[in-house]
Amino acid sequence: MPIHLQPEHVAAIRAHGERTYPEECGGLLLGILEGDDQIVREIMPLDNIRNDSRHNRVELSPLDYARAEREAGRRNLGVWGYYHSHPDHPAVPSSFDLEHAPFTEWSYLIVSIRDGKAADLRAWSLRTDRSQFDEKTIVTASQYKPTP
Ligand SMILES: [Zn+2]
Repeated sequence: MPIHLQPEHVAAIRAHGERTYPEECGGLLLGILEGDDQIVREIMPLDNIRNDSRHNRVELSPLDYARAEREAGRRNLGVWGYYHSHPDHPAVPSSFDLEHAPFTEWSYLIVSIRDGKAADLRAWSLRTDRSQFDEKTIVTASQYKPTP
């Protein structure tokens, strides 16, 4: 079940992480399902509402989330995932990420930011028993061949 991203989505996520460095950034992935594949159509950067631990915690406002769902619905898109940055840490989910991941259907993208520059971008899915994340494949648009 790969996740499909346009090159401009990748660029926007990397730029968001560089902009908020050394603090974490976060946002939502809007798109559609094609079979088991998640096709991202748009990314929606959101503000980090935490006042503490902003370098290793990101929390999004429920109001922003509700607004994102409404906007997605208006465009016949769904919210299919979430991205955030790991300043000076690998693009691997933390135990905090595991505890706070809301949905097993979502994709979780993590971009590692090293010394202010975006490095790895990796995608993860949450097991249905929530015991751990598994890495999933990111397909960028140039590799994506829609099924006829
Ligand atoms: Zn994290």
